[in-house]
Amino acid sequence: MHIDRKVTGEPDKEDVRMSTFCQKSRKNSIKFQYEGITKDPKKSERKKKAECRVCFYSKGRIGGCAITTTPCTICGKKMTFESTCTDKHCHECAMKHKLCRHCGAEMD
Ligand SMILES: [Zn+2]
Ligand SMILES: [Zn+2]
Repeated sequence: MHIDRKVTGEPDKEDVRMSTFCQKSRKNSIKFQYEGITKDPKKSERKKKAECRVCFYSKGRIGGCAITTTPCTICGKKMTFESTCTDKHCHECAMKHKLCRHCGAEMD
């Protein structure tokens, strides 16, 4: 892919405005993630979902938008996801082994 850019010798005002806007919203989401990870305010909800702090509070995971089917790494049950960013374990296995269903880390 090739991206054409106008070269004017000056910063593009519209681009600066957009980037500043994105920067602010990223700052808020990082703050939210940081507070979530350190204070864990939704602990019971998080435990119900069998997700570790990092996965639960880092919303907006990176992954392509394509229906993806993958087996649970423990029991082999097929799981379906709406993106290519899939979980490692099914909910039952994650709960049983006290692991994060998404990254497989031990639950705290
Ligand atoms: Zn399983
Ligand atoms: Zn995790």
